[in-house]
Amino acid sequence: MKWYKKLHWQIIIGLVLGLIWGLVANFVGLNEFTIDYIKPIGTIFIKLLVLIAVPLVLVSLVTGVTSLNDTTQLSRMGGKTVIIYAITTVFAISIGLATVNIMKPGKSLPVETREQLQATYSENLDDRSETAKEVMERGPLDFFVNIVPENFFDAASDNSNMLQVVFVAILLGIGIIQIGGKKAETLTNFFDAFNDVIIRIVELIMLTAPYGVFALMASLLIDLAGDDLGKALELLYALGWYCLAVLIGLTIHVFVVYATLFKATSNMKLTTFFRAIQPAMLLGFSTSSSAATLPVTMERVEKNLGVKEEVASFVLPIGATVNMDGTSLYQAVAAVFIAQALGMDLTLLQQLTIVITATAASIGAAGVPGAGIIMLVIVLESVQVPTAGIALILGVDRILDMFRTMVNVTGDAAVSVAVASSEGMLGDAHLDD
Ligand code: ASP
Repeated sequence: MKWYKKLHWQIIIGLVLGLIWGLVANFVGLNEFTIDYIKPIGTIFIKLLVLIAVPLVLVSLVTGVTSLNDTTQLSRMGGKTVIIYAITTVFAISIGLATVNIMKPGKSLPVETREQLQATYSENLDDRSETAKEVMERGPLDFFVNIVPENFFDAASDNSNMLQVVFVAILLGIGIIQIGGKKAETLTNFFDAFNDVIIRIVELIMLTAPYGVFALMASLLIDLAGDDLGKALELLYALGWYCLAVLIGLTIHVFVVYATLFKATSNMKLTTFFRAIQPAMLLGFSTSSSAATLPVTMERVEKNLGVKEEVASFVLPIGATVNMDGTSLYQAVAAVFIAQALGMDLTLLQQLTIVITATAASIGAAGVPGAGIIMLVIVLESVQVPTAGIALILGVDRILDMFRTMVNVTGDAAVSVAVASSEGMLGDAHLDD
């Protein structure tokens, strides 16, 4: 197959062309045209991915659970998944804290830029704080209470409740295993066939990915820059050190923590891993949403990395909701950066508090764009850093969101390989494109 016909190249081409379009449109005054006629293509693409996510998780998890012969295996896999997710998250936060303490980006931030950013964004802050306050007011066990839906259709109608869908799917699967016999067989066959249909739909949606990504990139540049690209670039430059600290931390996390986990649990080459999940990483980058990327992550991990469906359908939807290493690392850097910029030095104890609260905040963050910065309020409050300091980093958040989401998605995939391998459910890798 010619290189340009391969999906991941087409996505990269769409991404680059989208960025070029966004820049050119800014200069020649095509902003309105881009927002009216190009942006909707990106919106439709994301909606299609989100549309398929709930049926995908439900059907493939039921299929996965029914193909496990006993429920002991399910609980063993659950335990492993949660433990590995928690360990990688603590590593991520520690790497973030180390990077930001060594680079000290906050101490190099110009004062005028800080004031200008504060003035520009402070009005958005109230809504964001409200959402985070609601989360803070929840009781300690509310997380578990919220996993159980009162009404299945309500759960399925809200994509931020993916854990509720996971819960229902596991219950259904267990029910089917336990009734056994002919009826169970009929239901298993039904879910199996339905699963194939949904996978086909995901493949069809992915054919439109290059166009969707083009539209998302083009309109993002316009939304970011508004009418004054020069000013946007100047602000980006002022916050460059902070972004660099986040990016260096994310890179270390991927190439040290995930690489070690992958090498330790599979005998595949590291390049195989990255080549296999590249489309999912690129989609995570361009949609800034682990939830929207989930269908593609599942497809790549199963088809290209050989993770059996039983494992992928269980580990990945949970990961897309609770495992956000990129987000937690970013929150650690952001909290310390804001403290530094406001002239506060955090003690060791405060930094340890960040490890705990950033873990909770990343678990609580939904896999949608901007969720991480909303949850950052919790981290800041825990170390008594003024939450208004968020205004400092709002301007560059959308860009960092793209990178941290890419890491979130990569982490889910790496953990699914680890769990599959420990359960003897890792087949051969197939790099078809
Ligand atoms: N956008 C991220 C995700 O979906 C969450 C975040 O804002 O950090 O994984």
